[in-house]
Amino acid sequence: MVSVDAVLLDIDGVLTIGEEPVMGAVDAVRWLRDEGIPFRLVTNTTRRSRRSVAARLGGLGFAIPETWCFTPAMAAVSRLGEMDASACHLIATGDVHRDFEEAGIELADGEAPVVVVGDAGDRWTYDSMNNAFRLLVGGARLIALERDRCWRDAGGLALSAGPFVAALEYAAKTTAEVVGKPSPAFFRLALTDLGVPAGRAGMIGDDVETDIGGARSAGLVAVLVRTGKFRPETLAKAPVAPDRVIDSIADLPALLERGV
Ligand SMILES: [Mg+2]
Repeated sequence: MVSVDAVLLDIDGVLTIGEEPVMGAVDAVRWLRDEGIPFRLVTNTTRRSRRSVAARLGGLGFAIPETWCFTPAMAAVSRLGEMDASACHLIATGDVHRDFEEAGIELADGEAPVVVVGDAGDRWTYDSMNNAFRLLVGGARLIALERDRCWRDAGGLALSAGPFVAALEYAAKTTAEVVGKPSPAFFRLALTDLGVPAGRAGMIGDDVETDIGGARSAGLVAVLVRTGKFRPETLAKAPVAPDRVIDSIADLPALLERGV
């Protein structure tokens, strides 16, 4: 048994499914705040800016400050800075572009040193794929905001960015750098903000690969929930086992009270 000083929470499939909160999730988050247990949200969503992530959660009853929300777009901005790249070609949807623009990154339609790919939904067309492919063949680097195989919206399982990233890698004979989960650097962004070392933090997620595998690689205690995209068969086949499995986020207070 270990105790943790802080937790990182996934959003889709853990706090929410589609546009509904998971049963007991609002109370569990309120409990964390009441108990003074520090937490941050680490989401692989690439359809919303940080501001929109917080606003959506607020509308569903979760009172969570914007600055507690960590998105792959923020990790990409940080990585572009390290690469000295002031422009990129972004393929994403929603208002995720805002996180780049506010950081002073130029979003280029044409030539750019880096192609950044997220979950672009209906923006994926032959032309958008082919445009990205041509930039990559011309020497641009490929950053994947995430490469999840799928996620679960209100209608069921849905394709995430991963299948499209894989197609671009195959076509351009390149390898994407993933900046969202399971990248250890992404977990570190949130942990640094918390001021808590990885070994003293828990990660709560519904994806055995990005949440559980990623958290374990980064040194966190990994807790899997049986909601969202959870399937017994994916857990059975998971390359990395979670430290704990709970029915849902509603069971988190009991788990933390008795020690993870
Ligand atoms: Mg999830």
